[in-house]
Amino acid sequence: MLLLNMTKRSIYCNDTKETVTSYTKYLKTVHWHNLRVKKLLKNPHCEYKDCDSIDDLNIHHKTYKRLGHEKLSDLTTLCKKHHVKIHKELRQKRKLKRKSKRKPYLVGNKVLKLTPYRLYKLIKKNKLNNKYEKITKLKTN
Ligand SMILES: [Zn+2]
Repeated sequence: MLLLNMTKRSIYCNDTKETVTSYTKYLKTVHWHNLRVKKLLKNPHCEYKDCDSIDDLNIHHKTYKRLGHEKLSDLTTLCKKHHVKIHKELRQKRKLKRKSKRKPYLVGNKVLKLTPYRLYKLIKKNKLNNKYEKITKLKTN
């Protein structure tokens, strides 16, 4: 079993005695290789709806919560086409989530839609440039 050590940012495997410090390196471990084989034996075809492809199969993490000691149910078998599609959809989802966090602010005489992070950066930039634009949160409804 691989254990993720968040303080040292490393993943250690008791079985294979491997220690890795990044996700990219994790994907090259014997532990991950064995886990992939186990998943492929259990689900030897793409699990995407209406696809049963057995070509070019990838193992996809549905969650990274148990990275290093994943349950087989944390993983799903996908053909390359659907693996790419799922990651594209996830990127799109994250983009929409970020967009929904934007709120309107009156900055000087301009209305800007900002995420809390962008607002923080703007205030910091103002301070650095030693200028103080008036920033007012606008009401939304
Ligand atoms: Zn597929």
